[in-house]
Amino acid sequence: MKLGIMGGTFDPIHLGHLATAETVREIFALDEIIFIPAARPPHKLDKDISDEYSRLTMTLLATQSNEFFRVSDMEIKRKGLSYTLDTMNELYETFGRSTELFFIIGADSLADLSKWHAARELVAKCHFIATTRQGVDVDFSAVEKFFGAAATEHIHRVTTPGLEISSTAIRERVRLGRSIKYLVPEVVEEFILREGLYL
Ligand code: ATP
Ligand code: MG
Repeated sequence: MKLGIMGGTFDPIHLGHLATAETVREIFALDEIIFIPAARPPHKLDKDISDEYSRLTMTLLATQSNEFFRVSDMEIKRKGLSYTLDTMNELYETFGRSTELFFIIGADSLADLSKWHAARELVAKCHFIATTRQGVDVDFSAVEKFFGAAATEHIHRVTTPGLEISSTAIRERVRLGRSIKYLVPEVVEEFILREGLYL
């Protein structure tokens, strides 16, 4: 089994996340994509990040129409800062060691990958798919230098449609009373308006 993992704050989840996950699923012939909302860091218990229930609910709502998409609350349950290494181990325990894991990360995160906790172990044990946007260049030679042969085998780069949408821009639009139609799924838009998020 080949599992794609899409981690994020998802505050809110938007069409950029969903389109990227679907593109990657097709290109790499993944069996499923699991969306894993991050726990709210303990030092951000004010209004910086929406509560976990809201972010988890929006992620569930946004993914329900795609039979290949799943949602896991494992990082929210774990509380606080989650290490990808813990998430990886928990996924192996749940799905079995023969499962191939593909962590989907943005091009910006690829540049920092060497600084992640247990970075070399992660790259040795699972795959990373770095999504780049047209016109965005990442210096892959630095990545190869750090990870060596594992980089060539386990770090993949793919160009995705590159929808210029960010959660930050969506929160700002809601705050200003502007439309967020066609940026988030309708069910997510309804949830945001009903719950009065981002006002
Ligand atoms: P914020 O603006 O709050 O930082 P965000 O839109 O960047 O939110 P995150 O939840 O931080 O969303 O992102 C989760 C993952 O999705 C990251 O790997 C990020 O690089 C990727 N991502 C975010 N927006 C897009 C997009 N428009 N297209 C492709 N990937 C995206
Ligand atoms: Mg971000």
